[in-house]
Amino acid sequence: MSKFTSPDLMKLNNKKRILEIIYKQKNIYRAQIAEMTTMSNQTITNLVKELLREGLVKEVTMEKKSKGRNPMALSINDSMNHVIGIELSVNGMKLGLYDLALNNKREINVSSDHSNLESLKENIENLRLFSGSNKILGIAISVEGIVDELSGLVIKAKDTGFDRVNLKAELAYFDIPVQIRNDVNMLAETDSERHNNRNYMLVKIDRGIGAAFVLNGKIHRSDNNAAGEFGHTSVFTLGNKRLCRCGKKGCLTTETSMTALESKLGLNIGQMASMVEKNEPEIMEVVEETAEYISQPLSNIVTVLDLNKIILTGSVVTTFGDYFEKKLHEKLFEKLNAWGSFNEVETLGQYNMSDRSARCAVESYFTVSNFDIEE
Ligand SMILES: [Zn+2]
Repeated sequence: MSKFTSPDLMKLNNKKRILEIIYKQKNIYRAQIAEMTTMSNQTITNLVKELLREGLVKEVTMEKKSKGRNPMALSINDSMNHVIGIELSVNGMKLGLYDLALNNKREINVSSDHSNLESLKENIENLRLFSGSNKILGIAISVEGIVDELSGLVIKAKDTGFDRVNLKAELAYFDIPVQIRNDVNMLAETDSERHNNRNYMLVKIDRGIGAAFVLNGKIHRSDNNAAGEFGHTSVFTLGNKRLCRCGKKGCLTTETSMTALESKLGLNIGQMASMVEKNEPEIMEVVEETAEYISQPLSNIVTVLDLNKIILTGSVVTTFGDYFEKKLHEKLFEKLNAWGSFNEVETLGQYNMSDRSARCAVESYFTVSNFDIEE
């Protein structure tokens, strides 16, 4: 059974194509849509009528440019449609209800002790009720761990309360499209607009260490969903190697993650931050040493993939501050030859993961290739 033979499906695809054009072009006239597609004017008029009735699209009056009657332009009905953005991390759960312009309408925070599937379902229902007659077009969930984006299965996300849970299956009864992403991939995916770069890497150095790769302008996704497990690159190959929770010895994360640093130094984040602020030699040495350790696998990846840029984020980066970024920059350049494209290290400061998830939900809804088309 071919999915392209059904007239209903063709109509659905045409409608989604129109919706995508209106979303991407902002204010656009029906005639311009016709020029951009192979659809007839009549088909566009009919489908737009349906989109208007469904409240997804609205008519807007553009500035009058000539005499006579001006046609109405079309734009997405931002305020009457919502999405839900969710972050699932070791620190707990954060949910936000947003309109399509990404204005936050309501936020719910759940501590890690109460972060579980039951509470997730309950809180999605709370946001759905709060949304009232507005339609919820999508839910996107960022998970601190390894996920299968296609099936929705959380493959590995220890300490989040969602390890081995299939989120798409569990939330299917809401009848709302659900997107699920690894947190670092979600960050990279929702950050790419900002960059002209088509080849870069985003590294999160936090309680764990993860990375996302944007290659030729697209997020790199691997067969086993484990691409970007940068923390488990082998760095410490000689001497007294620590056992990693992945089962190997000498992984980068065993010395340079925030968890490793806390246990190694017997200090918490706040204590480290205040020592860095005072430039205490003891901590500055650790900052430099951490930059050296991380620069080793990082420079190899940059060389092999010929990346332009590295974006750093995570609690180690923010706690160690400018000095860390400076040292990492220096140490990377020491290890790179002149043939490559690499030119900068950038730090990504504060961000809100439920905002990012909401952006992903909106983008996914309005991008034809991302639609879940049922046969
Ligand atoms: Zn490991």
